[in-house]
Formats: sequence, structure tokens, C-alpha cells
Amino acid sequence: MLEVKNVTKYYGTNLAVNNLNFQVKDGEIFGLLGVNGAGKTTTFRMITGLLDKTEGEILFNGKKVDYSVTDQIGFLTEERSLLTKLTVLEQAKFYGGLKGLTNDEIETRLDYLLEKLEIKDYKTRKIKELSKGNQQKVQFIMSIINKPKLLILDEPFSGLDPINIELFKNLILELKEEGTSIIFSSHRMDHVEYFCESLCILVKGNTVLSGNLKKIKSSFAKKNIIIEGDVDKDKLMSIKGVLNVEKSSQTYKVSIENNDISDSVFKYVSKCKNIKKFIVEEPTLNEIFIEKVGGAYEK
Ligand code: ATP
Repeated sequence: MLEVKNVTKYYGTNLAVNNLNFQVKDGEIFGLLGVNGAGKTTTFRMITGLLDKTEGEILFNGKKVDYSVTDQIGFLTEERSLLTKLTVLEQAKFYGGLKGLTNDEIETRLDYLLEKLEIKDYKTRKIKELSKGNQQKVQFIMSIINKPKLLILDEPFSGLDPINIELFKNLILELKEEGTSIIFSSHRMDHVEYFCESLCILVKGNTVLSGNLKKIKSSFAKKNIIIEGDVDKDKLMSIKGVLNVEKSSQTYKVSIENNDISDSVFKYVSKCKNIKKFIVEEPTLNEIFIEKVGGAYEK
């Protein structure tokens, strides 16, 4: 389990992370979110021991993160850090060697991961000859070559097509099943919703929201109503407590201030024709993120 306790980081007088607290259990995927400059990279570097904290404590399985535990950590950074003149195998031997693995262990694990990501044929190819997406796969492989117990994934799907995203997803879920604690960071809220049970949203180093995603969603006052049928957008908009109405090809998405407003919307919709659907839904993480981050920016 990873524990981040009251962690603060100043760069000179610039406060980059302010009193951050969260935990990631074994086999849990935790979302660390924020816009550019929120303090995510600083946090990842402190967790992996690459950067000193100003205050606070970071423990992994009860121990401070130092050289004795770095073998158990994997870090997929947003920036690529591959030695592109090497072949995939040479690169794996280099990274795996740094993590204390033998050449045999490295090759067995590499073969497995290349197979899983469907790039077996690239084992002895130079990295610079690979496409951007395949380089991203190699980068991912390097971060998990040691079967890490703690894994940080910063924008893991950048540059990948939907099919390759599925291959990555399967491997991430496999690591979760094996008990790896995973920190997942992405600007794609749909991916965060897919993976993360709990999360934390940072704005300028401050935590503006944290906790269990289901609880966050249900406690969020705003809801959406999905309607399919012959309704009038202007009439919906004129109902008190309706914040917005969005029409897509078949359906209307009506954002309401809180659950009580759904009664007034239902009263109107029940008089309309051809109604096939009326569903009150929790807000999406995207909506929550925009509300929380937008609000915090205004301060
Ligand atoms: P992004 O999504 O753009 O990568 P981030 O959430 O990872 O952003 P950080 O890179 O951690 O954010 O930056 C947090 C704050 O710390 C920013 O104000 C940034 O300017 C500042 N900062 C980051 N690195 C340094 C540094 N080496 N020296 C001084 N200030 C820094």
C-alpha cells in the first residue's frame, strides 16, 4: 500500500504541492488528476524518490521509498525516455538490469509482454525504426518489465489508437489483479472513470476533490436527465432548476440543479408524445472535473 501523508513541495518560494494526502491499496487503481501545472509530475517524482519533499511522508508498505524499494516501482512518464538507437531487447536488458533482473528473467518477461501487445516481431528492431504508437508500447513495457508492486501511469494512452488502447487496458487490469498499486493520470475522464475507484483532483497544488468516485458522484447535487422522444428544448430550458439542454441525434441531455428538479421535468415530459426514455443519471466525471477545476480557477 502507498501512503502519501501531508506532503508539501516548494520550489524556492513557489508552492507546487500543498498538504497532499491519499492512499493506494494493493490492487487498486487511483486517479491523480489536474490541469497543466497542478502538481502531478512533482507528486510522481516525490513518490518515486526522484525529488525531495519539503514536508510530509511517503510510505510504501510502511517503508520510506529509497533505493531498497525502487526495484518494485514502475513509472511510465509522459515524456518518452527510450534510448532509440538500441533494439527493444537491448533496451529491456538495460532497464531490467537497473531493476536487478537477470537477462533470462528479462527476456521471458519481454517475450510475454511483446506477445500481449502484439509486437513480437519488433524484439530485435531498433526503437527509432518503430512508429510512435509502437514506441509508446515499448515505453510501457519498460515500465512494467519488473512486474512492479507500485506503478505510475502518466497519460499511458497518448498516441494510441482504440485497438491498442484495449491491449494496454488488459495489461493494466492484469497488473491490478496481481495486486499492483497503480496511480493513473490522464486528461481523458472516460479512461479515469473506467479504471479508478478513488481519485484526487489537484488545482495549483491544492486538493479540490478526493475520495471514492461513486460517493463523489452520488453526493454531487447536479444530475442529468436523458430523454428520448418529442420534447421542446425551449420548454425544457424554461423549467426552474434546469441548467442546460443538449440535443444529440436521438436524445436530449437535461442538466438539472438537483434531484428534486426531476419531478418538474417529468411533469412536462409526461404530457409529450413518443417518449421512449426518461432516465435520471449521475453527472459524468468530466462534468464534475470542469465544475471543480473551473470553480477553483475563479478564486
Ligand atoms: P503538466 O500536466 O503540465 O505536466 P503537472 O500537474 O505535472 O503539469 P508540475 O510539473 O508538477 O505540474 O508543476 C507544478 C508547479 O511546479 C508548476 O507551477 C510548475 O511551474 C512548478 N515547477 C515544476 N517543476 C519545477 C522546477 N523544476 N522548478 C521550479 N518550479 C517547478
